Amino acid sequence: MNFFEKEIKKSGFSSAQSSVIETAQEEQSMIPLIPCTACNYCAKFCPMDIGISGSLTAKNIYTLYGNLDTAIYQEGILVGSHGRRQAVHCTRCGACEGVCPQHIEIRKNLAEIAELFGQKE
Ligand code: SF4
Ligand code: SF4
Repeated sequence: MNFFEKEIKKSGFSSAQSSVIETAQEEQSMIPLIPCTACNYCAKFCPMDIGISGSLTAKNIYTLYGNLDTAIYQEGILVGSHGRRQAVHCTRCGACEGVCPQHIEIRKNLAEIAELFGQKE
């Protein structure tokens, strides 16, 4: 029994309510979101000052809502307005990946983001 199943059991929800919650949880788990927690450990090791977590969050926004303009706008807020550099400036050194507790393929995702968002060096 996983965490959610235990919580549902404790909650006193009816079986119908529990079923709706479990279905929603299953549906949500099938969305291929990048599991970045925005801990920003990676940022401390990036020699290029890339806005890694902001870029990954913007990609998740695109995955969730399918709206490229919104995702690019959010990237501007989460990366540019915080003085960080865009994904396109990543040199693929890999320093970030060694410290990511979520074991995210940061370089691969940043390359996809740079292309998807039409970023130019
Ligand atoms: S791979 Fe890219 S994002 Fe990661 S530390 Fe190197 S320059 Fe920064
Ligand atoms: S270390 Fe990993 S989980 Fe933390 S902000 Fe960076 S990419 Fe996200």
